[in-house]
Amino acid sequence: MAGEAKFIEATMEKPLSRDDLIRFIRSVISDEQQQEADPFYVLDLGATRSLLHTWFHHLPMLQPFYAVKCNPNPAFLKEMAALGTGFDCASLAEIETVLSLGVSPDRIVFANTCKPESHIKYAAKVGVNLTTFDSNCELQKIKKWHPKTALLIRIKVPETSNTATFEFGSKFGALPEEIVPLLRAAREAKLQVVGVSFHVGNRAINSHAFEDTIEVAKTTFETAAQLGLPKMHILNIGGGFTSGPNFTETASDMKVTFHKHFPKEVLGNAGLRIMAEPGRFFANSSFTLAASIIGKRNRGEAKEYWMNDGVWGSMSFLRYGRDEVNCTPLAIKKPVCKGMKTWSSTVYGPTCDSSDIVLKGYELPELDVNDWLVFHDMGAYTSSCGNDFNGFKTSAIPTYIAYQRNDGQLIGTDPSGEQFSIV
Ligand code: PLP
Repeated sequence: MAGEAKFIEATMEKPLSRDDLIRFIRSVISDEQQQEADPFYVLDLGATRSLLHTWFHHLPMLQPFYAVKCNPNPAFLKEMAALGTGFDCASLAEIETVLSLGVSPDRIVFANTCKPESHIKYAAKVGVNLTTFDSNCELQKIKKWHPKTALLIRIKVPETSNTATFEFGSKFGALPEEIVPLLRAAREAKLQVVGVSFHVGNRAINSHAFEDTIEVAKTTFETAAQLGLPKMHILNIGGGFTSGPNFTETASDMKVTFHKHFPKEVLGNAGLRIMAEPGRFFANSSFTLAASIIGKRNRGEAKEYWMNDGVWGSMSFLRYGRDEVNCTPLAIKKPVCKGMKTWSSTVYGPTCDSSDIVLKGYELPELDVNDWLVFHDMGAYTSSCGNDFNGFKTSAIPTYIAYQRNDGQLIGTDPSGEQFSIV
């Protein structure tokens, strides 16, 4: 661990510029030793570190427990572990992965409200002692297999304040009228409910959902006190954060809300622990994807291409109608020049599914087989959500690690762990 801290000190804590990322990718695809034909990711460690810095700069009181489901890339998890974050795990396998990095079980929240019994038993065995629930059935399973665990009651986000791109509908969270019966049931089962959790949904557009739900959480703290339960001391505000200007605004509104509802605690007087489960915030801009052109067809003025990743792979978010990808074509044989003629182009993914379409009517310069497309901000719900449809294995897409040393030198590590530097 001490060695890793030194490594962190010696490298820059800022993201690579887009130009440096392209330089890095060019080097990977042109170097005969490294040459990739299949898609690959680049993990920018400077981007990850700078995001953590931004997080603590704006929200020093909020402990991040990175949501592993968002991107369980081993190098990324190792980096987050070295940087000292906690982890939100949804299953036995995710807990196993995080523990294998040497992370202690008290840095894990088992944040799945409905867990298979075997997973609960495993959590008890390895000492993961914080989990969430929103049903009586879950309480009974926990009573049977892990009665010593601390519990967070997950509450539903008020519908009127939900602005997330992908909210969690009716599946998660206790309704207001269910809170008292659930707290009573926990008391009868002699289980300890130590706090409240919620999740406003992926990519919350503004901070209202957080503010409104923190208010409901505060009411739940009061309800528990009225029922005579021991004083709650954890508020888990889940994920839903995005990086960029939106984060600064959300963070400043959130601080006001914390002070309004938990004034003493935020000042550290009454021992309230505030935690969050950010996934997208840390993973999204840490990863860039490069995929290559594997086929081409000209239809009059329109150009059609096939590339070796698609909606059953890294771009599964397109199946839910989410299309905010940033596409920068990179031609290797014919360098793209400013002002080069572009064509309205369609880019298909590699499978035999006719709806496997990544881009439509998108302006691209003329490309050929073995030219590349680079997609920035591709770390959130990409590699973790694709599958192996038609034999294109999303989980096998390799990752190169990139970082810049303090002297400016760009360093890479290939998927086998070999280091190289880029001139
Ligand atoms: N926590 C829970 C319980 C989740 O279900 C999710 C995502 O689905 C997250 C955290 C991470 O959310 P995000 O990536 O929006 O931060």
